[in-house]
Amino acid sequence: MRPRALLACATGLTVLLMSGCAGAKSPESDNPPTPPPPSAALPPQAEPAPTPTPKPTRSKPSKPPLRPLPAKLPAGLVRTTGVPEVALTFDDGPDPVWTPKVLDRLKKAKVTATFCVVGTQVRKHPELVRRIVREGHQLCNHSWRHDLDLARRPIAEIRADLVRTNKEIRRAVPDAEVPFYRQPGGRWTAEVVKVARKLGMRSLHWTVDPRDWAKPTAATIEKRVKRSAKPGAVVLLHDGGGDRAATLAACHRMIAALKRDHGVAGLR
Ligand SMILES: [Zn+2]
Repeated sequence: MRPRALLACATGLTVLLMSGCAGAKSPESDNPPTPPPPSAALPPQAEPAPTPTPKPTRSKPSKPPLRPLPAKLPAGLVRTTGVPEVALTFDDGPDPVWTPKVLDRLKKAKVTATFCVVGTQVRKHPELVRRIVREGHQLCNHSWRHDLDLARRPIAEIRADLVRTNKEIRRAVPDAEVPFYRQPGGRWTAEVVKVARKLGMRSLHWTVDPRDWAKPTAATIEKRVKRSAKPGAVVLLHDGGGDRAATLAACHRMIAALKRDHGVAGLR
């Protein structure tokens, strides 16, 4: 883009600084590594303004625009286990009805899984987080309130959300390890991957999604997982966010088949 065009773009579409000027190029290559502070919504100026710019009112700050979702998944996601064994992951809990049942099922099957927990649920059910950890499962930060657009928000907001969630997890289990972050809806951006990494978390995606959240039957969930699971697969399931009877019912035979065909191991 020529300088004049760039300036026109920057001044004409001030509020759309992050998204509007990205044009047809990939957002990763066009976005600065850190987002502009809120004041950067004003046109960039070579010299400092002679008089201070009036600050937006504190009470009602205007929402910054969401950064666009990249056309393909960003780099740096964990999508396989890295070993022949497959891994089970359970999202959107802890849930007072379904999480204990899933934990019972995993215990019977003698396998461990990764639980991608939502901060507001952790706050309501800390005892379930303690049980998850006590029984040898792994924890994964799944954001504070399952905000599907979190990865598109300003870096500071993403960071605050992830930190708040980890704090709540550690209020339940003081020295809990939270080695993973999973973006709600899998709606990743390069920015959220970077923030998670800086907070010591790897970004956990998946290989197999039987879409159990769309309420298929247990037999369908089982069939989809068995059909798609390859060595090293990360299987996405849900223990929270709704009625998980079908997921629970699928677990027994599905886990037996995965153990037989690939082995089931916790993520490392
Ligand atoms: Zn989720």
